[in-house]
Amino acid sequence: MTKILVFVQTDENGAIKASEEIVSYCVNNFQSAEINAAAIVQHEQLEAVRNSLSNAGLNNLYLLINDSLFSTEIYSGILSEFLQENGHDVFLISATPLGRELAPRIASRLDIGLTADCTEIGIDENNMLLATRPTYGGKLMATILSKTFPQFATVRPGALKYTKCHPEKNTNIIEKYPEIDSSKLLSEVISFQKKNVQNTDWTTSDIIIAGGRGLGSKENFELIYKLCELTGAKPAASRCAVELGWAEPSIQVGQTGFSVSPKLYIAFGISGAMQHLVGIENADRIIAVNTDKNAPIMQSSDIAVTADAVETLKTLISDS
Ligand SMILES: Cc1cc2nc3c(=O)[nH]c(=O)nc-3n(C[C@H](O)[C@H](O)[C@H](O)COP(=O)(O)OP(=O)(O)OC[C@H]3O[C@@H](n4cnc5c(N)ncnc54)[C@H](O)[C@@H]3O)c2cc1C
Repeated sequence: MTKILVFVQTDENGAIKASEEIVSYCVNNFQSAEINAAAIVQHEQLEAVRNSLSNAGLNNLYLLINDSLFSTEIYSGILSEFLQENGHDVFLISATPLGRELAPRIASRLDIGLTADCTEIGIDENNMLLATRPTYGGKLMATILSKTFPQFATVRPGALKYTKCHPEKNTNIIEKYPEIDSSKLLSEVISFQKKNVQNTDWTTSDIIIAGGRGLGSKENFELIYKLCELTGAKPAASRCAVELGWAEPSIQVGQTGFSVSPKLYIAFGISGAMQHLVGIENADRIIAVNTDKNAPIMQSSDIAVTADAVETLKTLISDS
């Protein structure tokens, strides 16, 4: 039986959405595997983390209790030692900024391979992890089979759709107090200052309205924000719109931006390059508004509207 360990990133509310996505995907899709999770938690988070994961369908939840502030050195040390002591076949981390910081360090400490930023995962008939990620600038999808153990991958937030599971088994919760030899640490984290980041969890919104280069100007891109304000949707942008300075990088969707999984994604003036489409493959419905009826996004949409994006936005705004 394959033993899978998911590192669960936490905040004051318990497990973060990106980690829950991996847990729920594994529990729902790899039924013959043993699915465990490990979280590094401070005492004050214990209750929230326990509550968020006790009904997730896991076999074992390891709470690695550590009250020090987040430090890459401490966290990668704790997880590496945990993996050495508790053998697993597969190890998965969400490719959040924190996950991307930890994963290569853990791979280096354990001298194992790492498939970073996967958009799909699977288990083959030999119980091996199939880790799929875009390659050659997003033109191909490569499925990588690591030869080192645990087979290790990071998974893009939003790439695996979260589905609530209805567990039949109880999760075994194990608390551990990892030892840290502070004399060996090379650095000490003194404090954190939280940046005022807008739209922290916009990637899971029900409706996302996105704009691309076809909007023609920053002024026209403002219509995306206006329609979002009126409808409660969240704004998003193609990379071109970001590079033109019309939108913040924090709302870019696609291979080098975010993956999103809304019920409805409306794309105005976006061509639908593969690198953009990879970020919206989990959207339930896509509507595209484009003057070119042959634009790739029109083939990938549930409703393709051949029209001027700016005029359509203005009409929708005046009717809202
Ligand atoms: C390694 C790599 C990573 C990348 N990562 C990303 C990523 O994360 N996200 C991303 O989006 N891209 C990414 N790209 C870029 C991607 O290849 C495309 O260049 C980009 O998505 C195009 O943006 P766009 O659709 O806004 O612009 P364009 O491709 O220029 O398309 C504009 C569209 O607007 C239409 N249009 C023009 N005028 C109007 C009008 N008045 N009304 C309606 N429609 C109109 C046009 O017909 C066209 O289809 C990446 C590229 C590489 C190489």
